[in-house]
Amino acid sequence: MLDRRRFLLGSTLGSLGLLWNQKSAAMGPSKKLDAPLVLSTWDAGLDANRAAWDVLKAGGRALDAVEKGVMVTEDSLNCCVGLGGNPDRDGFVTLDACIMDEQGNCGSVAYLERIKHPISVARRVMEKTPHVMLVGSGAQQFAVSEGFKLESAELSDDAQRSYKQWLERSHYQSPAKNIENKQNQHGPFAPTRLDDGQWNHDTIGMIALDQQGNLSGSCTTSGAGFKMRGRVGDSPLIGSGLYVDNEVGACAATGQGEDIIRIAGSHLVVEFMRNGATPEEACKKAVGRLVSMRKNKIGDIQICFLAMDRTGSFGAFSLRPGFTYAVRSRNEEKIYKSKSWFDQ
Ligand code: ASP
Repeated sequence: MLDRRRFLLGSTLGSLGLLWNQKSAAMGPSKKLDAPLVLSTWDAGLDANRAAWDVLKAGGRALDAVEKGVMVTEDSLNCCVGLGGNPDRDGFVTLDACIMDEQGNCGSVAYLERIKHPISVARRVMEKTPHVMLVGSGAQQFAVSEGFKLESAELSDDAQRSYKQWLERSHYQSPAKNIENKQNQHGPFAPTRLDDGQWNHDTIGMIALDQQGNLSGSCTTSGAGFKMRGRVGDSPLIGSGLYVDNEVGACAATGQGEDIIRIAGSHLVVEFMRNGATPEEACKKAVGRLVSMRKNKIGDIQICFLAMDRTGSFGAFSLRPGFTYAVRSRNEEKIYKSKSWFDQ
């Protein structure tokens, strides 16, 4: 529950949000780099960006880059993206992912179990079915029919330990804010699960611009750890966790999925860019939309957006401080810190 101070702060920010949203989209700070270019959420995005960069620098498609890139994170069993992630409250790891290309083609899987690379299954849904989204056992059946291996349902050692700790506490914890970056307390970019079981959510969202000037994006996660069985967040939802419009730009989101869904966050960011906002301003306006919509119900959550327009301008914005993102281009390999609503 909010204490009174936070309630007052929330209400004030709510009104500011309303005022802010009425302002016209002035040019705001966003950085620009030449194509090709890849961005991804959180510090762990550096490794993922390297794999994406190999595709981009060779003149490959942004679509291939964003698939190859996030597969690195899905592969790292110590992380909470992919099968190494924390399970739901019944002890099962369920994965969500989506992908979108420059022509509005998109594919998605949700509530998928025992498949190592949900992003690649999402791509197959896009390329081989008349549908956009497959879920649960249907998604798994499709994956197996496409030749994906059914992996063991056993939790990784780290996930087992976290789950045991969580069961001992036996209450539902909402996702901790910015927990992704606490992994760096254990060494730079070497993900290690926190011992206190707090590291209970994580996502990688990636957007790329290739040498042909085309945009694509991907998003993959094990969702909120210890979630209710069947819970699906924003990450596999085209328009919430990810959106790409090649005429305008692309956006990926991370944070409390329920609140990103409420505002169809990534689509909203792209629409703000269409109306003239810079990427950073568009992300800020989307955060402002949630603040003004939820007011004192905003609670103790984090939401973060990362966007790029079709010219290679990029920026990010989060509700609370602590969101970082990784950038890779010909001249730059770097972690940026996002501004946030609460540092204003
Ligand atoms: N957005 C993800 C979800 O709600 C979690 C995260 O980004 O950390 O499933």
